[in-house]
Amino acid sequence: MPSNSTANPFETAKQQVDIVAKLIGLDPGVTEVLKHPKRELTVNFPVRMDDGSLRTYTGYRVQYNMARGPTKGGIRYHPQVTLDEVRALAAWMTWKCAVVNIPYGGAKGGVICDPKHMSRGELERLTRRFANEIAPIIGPEMDIPAPDVYTDSQTMAWIMDTYSMLKGYSVPGVVTGKPISLGGSEGRGEATGRGCAYVIREAAKDVGVKVKGGTVAVQGFGNAGSVAANILAEEQGAKIIAVSDSKGGIYKADGFNPKTVEEHKAKTGSVVGFPGAKSISNEEILETKADILIPAALENQITKKNADKIQAKIVAEAANGPTLPEADTILFEKKVTVLPDVLANAGGVTVSYFEWAQDIQGYFWGLQEVNSRLERVMTESYGAVHKVATQHAVHNRTAAYVVAIQRVVDAIKIRGIYP
Ligand code: NAD
Repeated sequence: MPSNSTANPFETAKQQVDIVAKLIGLDPGVTEVLKHPKRELTVNFPVRMDDGSLRTYTGYRVQYNMARGPTKGGIRYHPQVTLDEVRALAAWMTWKCAVVNIPYGGAKGGVICDPKHMSRGELERLTRRFANEIAPIIGPEMDIPAPDVYTDSQTMAWIMDTYSMLKGYSVPGVVTGKPISLGGSEGRGEATGRGCAYVIREAAKDVGVKVKGGTVAVQGFGNAGSVAANILAEEQGAKIIAVSDSKGGIYKADGFNPKTVEEHKAKTGSVVGFPGAKSISNEEILETKADILIPAALENQITKKNADKIQAKIVAEAANGPTLPEADTILFEKKVTVLPDVLANAGGVTVSYFEWAQDIQGYFWGLQEVNSRLERVMTESYGAVHKVATQHAVHNRTAAYVVAIQRVVDAIKIRGIYP
């Protein structure tokens, strides 16, 4: 989704809308609606630091489109947060929720801060004050934040508590990604990787790749990447031949047991140095001869420089934005099947939706129920995207945007324009 690091991400997001609008012959007035965030809130607020001084922070919450339901999207803490970045991320959340057909619009939030240099107390005070500032526009029926870059389940617990204090009663459904003890969902932690594995399984049938006995390379053996690797190996019989993290990569032609690699990583801090494995670089891992490649680390990894060297038949984007637009075209021409981020990593937001649904009902599901509902959502979503890709002879990313934008447009049209 994010295109390249120098471009304004919101300009990219708007261009993507234009491409789809042209392809499906969208009304120019409706296209304009899709290129504007519905609601944006900027807040400037003071936080007492540990040394007694006061610092003023700036935060944003953008609710991009709520035609299909309450808005959903994470809150990130980062020194480089900008309003245009938050707008773009909110637009992408709108499309992601629509691709998997969950009844949400998209939103995103951010606070300009440097969480690596803040104490836990400072982060808690910042979070609680930010939650208070955006409280008028969040809530289970309106806008439901979640964790993103440098925010986690503890951050969500503080937001849930602050919002509940303002209301005078507990409101677990105001955020997702909470600890289980506060109304979090079973299966949320592994939902992104699991959803990715389901989409790969479905695509493999169409592409003619055998997952059982097939080979897999994973760039970024973190939450999303390691879970996807585990599920592909354990449940689908794939061979994980290469994995990497920020320190480098490892390769073994006859495959790793991902659990053992996890143990090594937990002990040493990295996959590097795994006994019996050959070292490879993070560039090499992308070019590994494997049936399936899972970029699960950072943005902008597959570019026009290396797209031609990708040997995988399926590239499943567990990460957000790992492929640049120029590389998309090269991969499409090479007949590499790309499973775009809005589809391949949408398992996370899908189980967030399950978390919210459980919270507002006050009735919690077991892990098996969560996983089987996730499997259904991912399988159906892949099917919808594949059908459009075939119909319009476009790659899956464009097809996913067509599916999503069409769903949002249908909601806008059937609701009608107020007044
Ligand atoms: P994570 O921090 O658990 O894992 C990231 C992994 O990437 C780590 O192993 C890290 O060492 C590795 N890494 C960092 N820099 C690297 C580099 N230069 N080369 C290779 N590896 C590198 O994060 P995560 O939650 O697994 O997220 C990974 C990606 O998936 C991100 O793009 C994120 O936006 C996306 N994503 C995650 C979720 C989720 O629910 N976790 C949902 C949607 C999208």
